[in-house]
Amino acid sequence: MKLIYCFFAFAFLVKAKDVPEEMVQYYLKLLEEYATNFTIWEHPTDNRNFFQLINEEAEAKTGRFKVLVLEAGGRENDFTDVPGFAPYVVRSDYNWGYKAIPQKRCCLGFKNKQCNYIRGRGVGGSTVVNYMMYVRGNKEDFDKWGSKNPGWDYESVLHYFKKYQNASLRLEDAIYHGHNGSLSVEDVRLYPEAVKLFRKAAKQRGRDILDYNGEDQYGYSTIQAMTKKGTRCSANKAFVEPTMGRKNLELLDHALVTRILIENKIFVMARNIMQQHRKKSLFQVVR
Ligand SMILES: Cc1cc2nc3c(=O)[nH]c(=O)nc-3n(C[C@H](O)[C@H](O)[C@H](O)COP(=O)(O)OP(=O)(O)OC[C@H]3O[C@@H](n4cnc5c(N)ncnc54)[C@H](O)[C@@H]3O)c2cc1C
Repeated sequence: MKLIYCFFAFAFLVKAKDVPEEMVQYYLKLLEEYATNFTIWEHPTDNRNFFQLINEEAEAKTGRFKVLVLEAGGRENDFTDVPGFAPYVVRSDYNWGYKAIPQKRCCLGFKNKQCNYIRGRGVGGSTVVNYMMYVRGNKEDFDKWGSKNPGWDYESVLHYFKKYQNASLRLEDAIYHGHNGSLSVEDVRLYPEAVKLFRKAAKQRGRDILDYNGEDQYGYSTIQAMTKKGTRCSANKAFVEPTMGRKNLELLDHALVTRILIENKIFVMARNIMQQHRKKSLFQVVR
């Protein structure tokens, strides 16, 4: 059985009162183009199959998928690139600004006992606001997931961990790291003095100083960070920017998806939420 995988997108401007006619026409044209370029693909029988197809496609760069990436937020800027600014970036528009529901036993120091629930809004998602620590997780968890979901065991995912990674680490369990991918992983450069004391204490207690993304996770380590020469290496920098030259890929930022209709085909219905002062940038982005 065949199913059509097709990523259509169009912005519904009908409800907005002050949208220029040329913008409406632009989206109608965009929709038309995507509607005529849909892709036919085999129906995947399991998760692995589908991701294999995506990966084969990415490697072969055949352009069989037409992809429109829709993102509610904007692009990164110089400010988000600076790791030390992370605590300030989460107070900006790059955070959706969610709050947890009022709690009984925690978040007691917060207004209405509601903790902040930070989620990134921007091309690169939460990797634009996060703390950049590169921590893969524990092998046994992956193996547990993999026992019911083929392709998610540690050995299978390790292939992809290595493939996307460009590691540059002082202490490295070499067979667990890749060096030709686009996600840069480095040692953190600046540490407070206290870190030296922790390392010394660990040694005194006979603990290993190790690569916690390697064979053994029981020990001490400084942080491996998703940075490139000391600046944030977000998912956007690692995976979106390098592909932006592809003809079958288009990225629309400041485009909030409000509905996804799935029938035989996949429709992504996006509603544009650009504010008055940002409309110009939309035109720049979509050309
Ligand atoms: C403060 C903070 C610190 C963190 N620190 C670390 C760390 O040090 N190391 C680590 O490994 N992980 C860290 N994380 C977690 C990590 O960043 C996230 O797990 C990861 O980015 C999640 O990826 P995702 O693709 O699932 O979702 P996200 O990265 O959140 O991406 C979802 C994207 O979809 C967009 N979107 C959502 N709804 C719509 C819509 N309706 N229309 C259009 N676009 C939409 C959002 O704007 C966002 O860009 C941290 C997270 C936070 C919040």
